[in-house]
Amino acid sequence: MLNNPLARMASLTVVLLTVALLTAPTKMGFGAQAQRQSVTSGQRYPRLVIRNAMVVDGNGTPASGPKDIVLERNAIAEIVSLDPVALREGRARRPSGDVEIDATGKYVLPGLINAHGHVQDERGGIPQPVDYCLKLWLACGITTVRDVGSDTTKTLALRDRSAKGEIAAPRLFVYPMFGARKNSDEARARVREIKQMGCDGIKILGVDRDIMAALLDEAHKLGLRVAHHAGVEETNAWDDIKYGTTSIEHWYGIPDAAIESGRQNFPSPYNYSNEVDRFRYAGHLWREANPERLTKVLTAMVAANVAWDPTLDIYEASRDLQRAQTQPWFADYLHPTLEDYFRPNPANHGSYFIGWSSTDETFWKENYQIWMAALREFDRLGGTIGAGEDSGFIYQMYGFGLIRTLELHQEAGFHPLKIIQHATGNNAKILGQEDRLGRVRAGYTADLIVVNGNPLENLKVLYPTGVEEIKDGKAVHTGGIEWTIKDGIPYHGPTLMKEIKEMVAKARAERAAKAARR
Ligand SMILES: [Zn+2]
Repeated sequence: MLNNPLARMASLTVVLLTVALLTAPTKMGFGAQAQRQSVTSGQRYPRLVIRNAMVVDGNGTPASGPKDIVLERNAIAEIVSLDPVALREGRARRPSGDVEIDATGKYVLPGLINAHGHVQDERGGIPQPVDYCLKLWLACGITTVRDVGSDTTKTLALRDRSAKGEIAAPRLFVYPMFGARKNSDEARARVREIKQMGCDGIKILGVDRDIMAALLDEAHKLGLRVAHHAGVEETNAWDDIKYGTTSIEHWYGIPDAAIESGRQNFPSPYNYSNEVDRFRYAGHLWREANPERLTKVLTAMVAANVAWDPTLDIYEASRDLQRAQTQPWFADYLHPTLEDYFRPNPANHGSYFIGWSSTDETFWKENYQIWMAALREFDRLGGTIGAGEDSGFIYQMYGFGLIRTLELHQEAGFHPLKIIQHATGNNAKILGQEDRLGRVRAGYTADLIVVNGNPLENLKVLYPTGVEEIKDGKAVHTGGIEWTIKDGIPYHGPTLMKEIKEMVAKARAERAAKAARR
């Protein structure tokens, strides 16, 4: 076990934290170790100072630092730029705090926002601890999740417990599935019901045009935002533009709106209800979009303020199945319930890889290229691009999927500063929370991450399993998110990962024992 660097790091941290509990006075000295010991994971402090940080804000501006960031309770109170000359001469103004996190050599970013998550406590009807999903999100630096479809009653309860700081979880915004309604009166009634439940928005999927018109009109009246997973259905992006959807999820509906004939050239045996058919021919969709018409669609989306949350990670298995099936974190962190759910099985949504061929992958690789070019064009036209993961499906683990999505935004051609903006400032805007979330700015909510390494150089440093680097001629294991601070509460990344690893090991052992008894 000690051969595993992450385990070693985690156990070392526990020792440090234990020492801290035994010895910590109210004020610590200035040594880096001493400072780190003074912060207990999961506890909010009246005044916490993050020292010496390189800061990347969520508005796309360049990194700057070193800075001291002062958190008071759950707010960013002050950000002090450190003047190098004053520092050298020992006359720099350094704010004091009850506890300190030493961020020397580290990067501080706004907490990541996952614009497309699903709180899950089961897969395929088999229970999976909800903590597994919530803690993985935190360990991956996610402080806010827009939940677009889950068990609404349970997720609302989790949202409130998270807001009170009672559970280790990101802040949740609950957008329940709209479901099916027969007519516009029923559609309006459903919107009012969602509002009455205290939800934050609505997720729509597979609704016909008259229902969509009514529900969006009612949602606008009640101040509810709407996320649209446009399948290949009656409506497409032109309807989102006309009726004022907040964000288009994934990508369907956009190329569809740019096909000359209005309908993709499906082969005659095609059956939309068959997921193999559906995902296979989705890989032929972007190539059928007429480029001039596509520009018109994207331009109209920008004018109508319809954002785009492309969830690039969730289709990646379609272009490279083996990569998706062998991700390194599966070894220690993939819960057996999720592992089972990922196996190709027509009974599970998104588990469609039966007879998946090199030809399918080739179409999907081309599909991604056109999709990514459309994203670049949408950005050039002034569109708002968000970032979401849709994990819990198609080989994507919670949190890891969002970081993979950021890597794919880089592959799409975006500068890392803009990619961080997609996952922070832009997502905050999509949520209507841009005046309090998604920035490292005084007065904003204290949602921050302290990263071991420079994500502008390598987004992979955000993976909690870390990266291998050469330092002073030696191979070292580094990277990962040291602290995820949500609402002013610091969570220690390696400690969370240790807990998740134990949760997974226990579930695997229970499963093995059950199998042995059979
Ligand atoms: Zn989804």
